[in-house]
Amino acid sequence: MTETLNALKQADPEVFEILEAEDARQHDTIRLIASENYTSRAVMEATGSRLTNKYSEGYPGKRYYQGQAYTDRVENLAIERARELFGADHVNIQPYSGSPANLAVFYAMLEPGDKVLGMGLPFGGHLTHGWKVSFSGRFYDAHAYAVDETTETIDYDAVARQAREIRPKMLICGASAYPRTIDFERFAEIAREVDAILLADIAHISGLVAGGVHPSPVPVADIVTTTTHKTLRGPRSGMIMCTSEHASAIDRAIFPGLQGGPHMNQIAAAAVAFGEALTPDFKHYAQQVVDNARVLADALQSQGLRLVTGGTDNHLVLVDLTPRGLGGRAAAIALEKAGVVVNSNSIPFDKRKPFDPSGIRIGTAAITTRGMGEDAMRQIADFMARALDNIDNDDTLSGIRSDVEAFCRDFPIP
Ligand SMILES: *Cc1c(COP(=O)(O)O)cnc(C)c1O
Repeated sequence: MTETLNALKQADPEVFEILEAEDARQHDTIRLIASENYTSRAVMEATGSRLTNKYSEGYPGKRYYQGQAYTDRVENLAIERARELFGADHVNIQPYSGSPANLAVFYAMLEPGDKVLGMGLPFGGHLTHGWKVSFSGRFYDAHAYAVDETTETIDYDAVARQAREIRPKMLICGASAYPRTIDFERFAEIAREVDAILLADIAHISGLVAGGVHPSPVPVADIVTTTTHKTLRGPRSGMIMCTSEHASAIDRAIFPGLQGGPHMNQIAAAAVAFGEALTPDFKHYAQQVVDNARVLADALQSQGLRLVTGGTDNHLVLVDLTPRGLGGRAAAIALEKAGVVVNSNSIPFDKRKPFDPSGIRIGTAAITTRGMGEDAMRQIADFMARALDNIDNDDTLSGIRSDVEAFCRDFPIP
């Protein structure tokens, strides 16, 4: 991308040089951060457009400032495409990102101190689902469900029992580190039984939902939130979908409740990404993300690594390094030296601390966008196993890094 940034190169060589180095890093490494991806050039161009200059507080047809002919058009287009993609009644495309989208749902649907029940952070849930250090745990009476200790998957009967006991005003499903299909219908049943609002947060899997390779919560949940930049492959942004019943409460919570002017450049870029997601190519991408994750999971298992839940149904694999005698942090640092970028991650019932947990989390969205297929997955598992066998040997790690760079040359980034 930097090759087109002539004005920046002239005006600010210091920032230009940083961006150029980041381009090279994104090209020369195997990016397995499960929440990351590569957007298309079209999405990047819209993100960098002059819409960043425009203030447009309010909603299409009802703005507070003049000059909205084109912001209205582009926001309506983003909304229409999102509705087509997910089949939602109502879409708000203004949340600045995934966390503000969740914050808006809390603000719209609850009073401070109301009870919520969400997946605990240590079991794969997100901070904004009621974890103590986040607004969602601080201002609400937040309770957490875990996964089953043996299967490491959600025990829906246990969640139902907990919900009957707690009677939360809102039940939250969706996760940041859960490698299995989420049964949204079962969650909806539980929510109905205890008369709770159901919030489904599909930040990680929305690209898989849009591509038809994961069931959609839209028909069964009251409210669905997502980011647009993870598997959905759009700009960094957020979105809320809901039934008509909750539309005005959600819209008012975003503006004027929590935000001022929407970031119209991001909204235009989201419209572009939704247009891409409506094509058959995107369905192939989504299927390949899941196929790649399965092949990578099998290959890692063949290398003797233990996977949480024993495998994956989606884009994400959680590796438990305990049997290897390694901590997640040391493993992630060594892998980065070898050109493989992951994050350390807690595993269910982790005995180690969150900053140096027992696992690493990996995802296949970004590498699939680069065109890597199943042979590439086996190669990546091999790079990873070699690096994990040599975490204290910098020479070996830098040798692997050279191999990784050569391997990456066959897969140009957008
Ligand atoms: C990533 C994520 C978010 C937050 O998104 P940000 O854009 O980082 O604020 C919210 N919920 C879940 C489940 C996520 O994985």
